[in-house]
Amino acid sequence: MIPSPYPGQRVLVFLACFTAVSIAWAAPDSLMPPEAVRQPVELERELLAPWQAGGEIVIQSRPNGALEAGRRTAPPVDAAEEQERRAEHFALALRLNLVKAYRVVPYVLPLNDDQIRLLERFALSDAGAVWFREMADDTLRLFNQGYLEVDESLWQAHQAGGPRPRLSHLITGRLSEAGLFAQDAAVFRIHAYDGPGSMAAASSIRMGLAGFRCQFQLSGETVDPFAILSHEFGHSRYGDPWSAGLPLGEARTVERYENPVRVRRGFPPRTVYYLRVDPARPAWSRDPLLARILAWKKYRERGLADMAPVEGLYCECPDAPGSLRDCLTGVTAADVAGASGAAPDECSLRWAAVRVAIPETQAGAGP
Ligand SMILES: [Zn+2]
Repeated sequence: MIPSPYPGQRVLVFLACFTAVSIAWAAPDSLMPPEAVRQPVELERELLAPWQAGGEIVIQSRPNGALEAGRRTAPPVDAAEEQERRAEHFALALRLNLVKAYRVVPYVLPLNDDQIRLLERFALSDAGAVWFREMADDTLRLFNQGYLEVDESLWQAHQAGGPRPRLSHLITGRLSEAGLFAQDAAVFRIHAYDGPGSMAAASSIRMGLAGFRCQFQLSGETVDPFAILSHEFGHSRYGDPWSAGLPLGEARTVERYENPVRVRRGFPPRTVYYLRVDPARPAWSRDPLLARILAWKKYRERGLADMAPVEGLYCECPDAPGSLRDCLTGVTAADVAGASGAAPDECSLRWAAVRVAIPETQAGAGP
């Protein structure tokens, strides 16, 4: 993220007027390298800004001949220029971050054409532009460390009077020899896996080859693929990498990274996150709220009193495999009218419903 990338209006006019000639005499200090330390994306604030893609990426050579990448500080002159910057970030990701061929890594499958097209549309959208800018900033960092292989002939052609190559053309998508042996050359990857939905880790996003559902499994709310991708980026190192799979972390991820996208695209904000509890997972967690949820039988008499902001726990019971009941009352939606369920002790927890905070900016939005 670039701090206050756009100076005052008077400076903007000045830069806009001189952009054409500045390429010729750009002093090394006129480019801003990416910040050394990543800051977590504040998506709501970013989406309120006039532009999302950040400064134009430019390559120049240092006095010692080494290449250096940075960004100009001038904002785009119009929407078309902003779109060009977003497209360059997608081109960089396509070169370096999107997995397009089988790799010698288990479970890492290449993205298919539909997934790549979805990612491109996302990269060109406002929220996607923010996340792809962060990925591009990582690429600048790797480039400036000398970790990316470069097509030297393109730079030589430029020095001989040819056009200045874009970074997405200059890099080959492979690591340089230095990058291959560097411990800190962690390229962010977006790849496919066999299954539905999507998942994230600190340095990767996985997209299921079975695609996204149209509705969320339990709530029935409509899925917005862009909001889901933003949610996944929110779990990565560009957002909060400690949030995935935890009740409060997930609710906060929906609030910070998913709902801002949903409400801007005409979907109502999600008010509840359903955390799936894998039957195979250990019955204990370091996270205090998740630990209480997993030990729900112990807390049964007190109901949900110790579990705010959990709204409900849903169980599967041996007398009705495949259907869900309220763990605490043993009652299903279908048998509220009379019949009682199985003894709760025999039931096992499958889902926890966690409330999502809805800030004023998101409340009342959507159709
Ligand atoms: Zn999540």
